[in-house]
Amino acid sequence: MNLIKHFVGGKITPGNSERKGKVFNPATGEQESEVILASKSDLDGAVEIAQKAFETWSLNPPLQRARIMFRFKELIEKNFDELAKLIVSEHGKVYEDAKGSLIRGLEVVEFACGIPHLLKGEFSENVGTNVDSYSMRQPLGVAAGITPFNFPAMVPMWMFPLAIACGNSFILKPSEKDPSCPMKLAELLHEAGLPEGVFNVVNGDKEVVDAILTNQNIKAVSFVGSTPIAKYIYENAAKNEKRVQALGGAKNHLVVMPDCDLDGAVNGLMGAAYGSAGERCMAQSVAVAVGDIGDELVSRLSKKAEALKIGPGMDKSSEMGPLVTKEHLEKVKGYVDLGVKEGAKLVLDGRNLKLQGYENGFYIGGCLFDHVSTDMRIYKEEIFGPVLSVVRVKTFEEATKMINEHEYGNGVSIYTRDGDAGRTFASKIQVGMVGINVPIPVPMAFHSFGGWKRSLFGDSGTHGMEGVKFYTKLKTITSRWPSGIRSNPEFIMPTMK
Ligand code: NAD
Repeated sequence: MNLIKHFVGGKITPGNSERKGKVFNPATGEQESEVILASKSDLDGAVEIAQKAFETWSLNPPLQRARIMFRFKELIEKNFDELAKLIVSEHGKVYEDAKGSLIRGLEVVEFACGIPHLLKGEFSENVGTNVDSYSMRQPLGVAAGITPFNFPAMVPMWMFPLAIACGNSFILKPSEKDPSCPMKLAELLHEAGLPEGVFNVVNGDKEVVDAILTNQNIKAVSFVGSTPIAKYIYENAAKNEKRVQALGGAKNHLVVMPDCDLDGAVNGLMGAAYGSAGERCMAQSVAVAVGDIGDELVSRLSKKAEALKIGPGMDKSSEMGPLVTKEHLEKVKGYVDLGVKEGAKLVLDGRNLKLQGYENGFYIGGCLFDHVSTDMRIYKEEIFGPVLSVVRVKTFEEATKMINEHEYGNGVSIYTRDGDAGRTFASKIQVGMVGINVPIPVPMAFHSFGGWKRSLFGDSGTHGMEGVKFYTKLKTITSRWPSGIRSNPEFIMPTMK
């Protein structure tokens, strides 16, 4: 059986832990690999190596760091097919979707290629007579990233390209469910000329995460995953005096206004609810039907959802692949059972789907609930599967109030032809990423990604300038040269004279 190890100090290494996790191919349900789950001492050893690497890497001019990013970009492009296949084989999503997610990660590498420009500080001449002031951004040291299963390439790439380009070294702790793609990315960075120890992958579970949170040499922690763990990371990283950004779970709404282009809204919802089998933090899992649009919306959605082509991710005709593990499949099915018990109308039931030749794969068909109400758990909780709930409301105001009262605030969309409604929605909605006639409003690499409320703990989102700021410390220098030095001591707060 394939054994997945760690990548530390420029090489693949087994570490000293005996513990192993199972990695499945969700399309067949077969276990295809084992991943070594590192110990605390493995992590501490990797941090020591990363700290040493940081001391020289951080002195490299940003332009040299950028050149490595350019070479890394080329290598990703050259190895695109292999990387996408690794994602499909352990996550299960369809090949074209895996490629799309890789491109969104690649865009952050492209953004990081501009690091000499992004790190430029500010300069003010003559803040006082003959006194100048300027600022610079300097790297932090060793940064760590802890990432979820649903985007094994893209989410780590929200983090490490910028962290490294800013001059830090990095420890990635990927999801133990699909660690092969991050391992391949580490090899490519090495091939691109990144010095040993600047980027390291330590595979594992809670034991490594806790070791990251307590290691004194780790200065910043980026986390993406579920809300309870995000909160745990936020509290414990802060307690141990680290910078932290912790992105959590979501329950995203797509508001369908009666005046909208309904075909556009239905197609948008189909991709956003069922794409990647709903295993996206920006999946639209609640459709809010405003006014009298509900019947027509549900009728069109159910026809399309019933016709979804479900199959292995490598099958070209598949629109939706399996879920990531058997446990997750059972959890999602459990939510569908719950919705029925809670009194929602199950318009489309995907629980009994069986695929010939793939009987052991972790598949579920698209599910659609109508008449979901805000007191139901299927409305309140993140299901993270291909289960779309329709909530019917009378007015735009009722729709926005309901969204603003939800505990999550990651993404949201509105479909309308009314500019006034669109503008008011963008202004008043308590959510971090908003789409207007756009179903999945994931910001591009040169903007930043981050939700509000319990979808993000910390002050900054990932990538874009938020990422540059997160991975650097600001230093401001005030300087005067000898001809301007005042000769007498002064005991009052310096002010401009
Ligand atoms: P998860 O929280 O179970 O795991 C995320 C990471 O935390 C993994 O690396 C895992 O090993 C680690 N972890 C798990 N349990 C832990 C524990 N008890 N102590 C310490 N570390 C632990 O999340 P997941 O199931 O891998 O991913 C799905 C979740 O991620 C969903 O909630 C989804 O919304 C969220 N997500 C959010 C975003 C975002 O940008 N907000 C993006 C992608 C995914």
